[in-house]
Amino acid sequence: MQGLLIGKTCVVTGGSKGIGRAMVELFAREGGRVFYLSRSEAEDPEALAAAAGQGGSVTWKKCDVAVEAEVEAALEAVVAEAGGLDVVVNNAGVTRDGLVFRMSLEDWETVLRTNLTSAFLVSRTAARHMIKRRSGSIINVSSVVGIMGNGGQTNYAASKAGLLGFTKSLAREVASRGVRVNALAPGFIETSMTDKIPAEAKEKLKATIPLGRNGAPEEVAKAALFLASELSSYVTGEVLKVDGGMGM
Ligand code: NAP
Repeated sequence: MQGLLIGKTCVVTGGSKGIGRAMVELFAREGGRVFYLSRSEAEDPEALAAAAGQGGSVTWKKCDVAVEAEVEAALEAVVAEAGGLDVVVNNAGVTRDGLVFRMSLEDWETVLRTNLTSAFLVSRTAARHMIKRRSGSIINVSSVVGIMGNGGQTNYAASKAGLLGFTKSLAREVASRGVRVNALAPGFIETSMTDKIPAEAKEKLKATIPLGRNGAPEEVAKAALFLASELSSYVTGEVLKVDGGMGM
């Protein structure tokens, strides 16, 4: 443990499970004061709290990131409690897979709103605070699917590709004010999101990964820690793939 986030206030959306949860744990272990935003609390909040070290802490804020008023209220509450905002990870995401000719407008809009519009809503409020203090790191969790595309996931791929354009444009807007904006593009990571994929399809996917295995949430969290901390002080507008080589 290096204490890379001591004294830093961090917000992670979708921190109740999966990749987001691994980030919450690691950031708090590194001394961050971590707030996670999700509709439900983690199943074992005590274990999350116990993971914190070096002055770090974990607090849940109930929030549907697809709802503007809820996002603004949650972030203002964090700033009021913590006195500022140093790191924001836009990680909350959903899938509603299906071939495009069978896809309902509702499934299209739910995915775009939860995965992409949420990042706009969260970053808009966060950037206002970060710009004032002339420092901050915003991390958007995209996907290799946003780079490569994937049949059956037009809505999801569009949301994740949209996040890449959003990341680079926002990075250019706020760079002169000391705020960095980067994206992560995970490949196939073992979480409840990928649990739904049939075993046979999983095996086929695995065969496309040069490292020959699926990733763990903790491996994405380590990349997020790099982008969140001073270790990446000269990195902005970047897309970091964490995919075992899948997307190269
Ligand atoms: P997961 O295990 O299904 O977790 C998703 C998280 O998002 C949960 O904490 C969930 O919390 C939250 N969430 C969903 N809708 C929300 C909403 N409307 N408001 C607030 N929170 C919401 O998924 P994961 O695999 O960890 O995925 C995390 C991120 O990584 C997603 O953006 C995903 O697209 C991306 N990703 C995943 C993979 C992979 O292979 N797993 C690969 C590439 C990218 P609640 O349900 O409690 O709200």
